[in-house]
Amino acid sequence: MAATPHEREPAPVDADEAQSHRGDLPQRLWAPWRMRYVAGGLRESGCIFCNRLAENDDVRTLILHRGDRAFVIMNLFPYNTGHVMIVPNAHVSSPEDADAEMLAEMSALRAPVLRALRRAMAPEGFNLGMNVGAVAGAGVADHLHEHIVPRWGGDANFMPILAATTVMPELIPVTYAKLRAELGRELHGANRLTSLVLTADRMRALADAGGHQLCVAASVGEPLWRAALRDIHDRGAVHAELAGWAGSTRADPGDPTLLFTATFPSAAAAPANHRFVDLAVLLSDLDDDARAAVEQFSSETAP
Ligand SMILES: [Zn+2]
Repeated sequence: MAATPHEREPAPVDADEAQSHRGDLPQRLWAPWRMRYVAGGLRESGCIFCNRLAENDDVRTLILHRGDRAFVIMNLFPYNTGHVMIVPNAHVSSPEDADAEMLAEMSALRAPVLRALRRAMAPEGFNLGMNVGAVAGAGVADHLHEHIVPRWGGDANFMPILAATTVMPELIPVTYAKLRAELGRELHGANRLTSLVLTADRMRALADAGGHQLCVAASVGEPLWRAALRDIHDRGAVHAELAGWAGSTRADPGDPTLLFTATFPSAAAAPANHRFVDLAVLLSDLDDDARAAVEQFSSETAP
């Protein structure tokens, strides 16, 4: 059985920085991933940002967007939920070493990232900033990166809505899926996404009359993931939850695909003009990346 995203060894990003934090960013609020990382003693050679960029599995490495000169990645050892970083593609240690185009792209990513975070997580504020040099608190001092940390009033007590029904390690994949969808919408203009709805037993998928996955459009300001949930409920689901991500592992243009599990009053009763198809049938229509993601998810133990 394939490992689930949260069972994989975490891709280490900025663990040292977390430890060397000296006050310019908020105190760590929770750190289950870091604790596991420290306990496992996992280390890697080379630059973690260059290593992540060289890999081609953006879901595993938590890369949210790849640009010509900069990329956006979630911090696996976050100061707070939704902690992301804007990083130049080139291995430079200080803005002094970066060319103007590189700095311009990093700067241009800031507002879309903030807007995506607002829609996905409704923070009340942000901490933004760079630590340049180890003495300033940079754990990865050789490769420049800008932190964006969402904040909530009393966020020591903050728990995302999903936390009530989700074990803590699932927060990062769920947050990733939501942020990637919203950032893709910011950067590529899409207000539609594809939702793949599985029955609770993960054996069948909801498809339209033509056997296609469901598409949903979000209204202005509405988070894409919430639009997809609304759509599923409108179709008669009595319960649905964001279960994961299916689709290309590259953060490229095009409709992102979110994976939901849903319970309908009767698994045999499909909403009008829709039908449940065996998952195996639907898988034959998906591209390779999406198929791999769905197969991995559906092979996990059903709830
Ligand atoms: Zn590097």
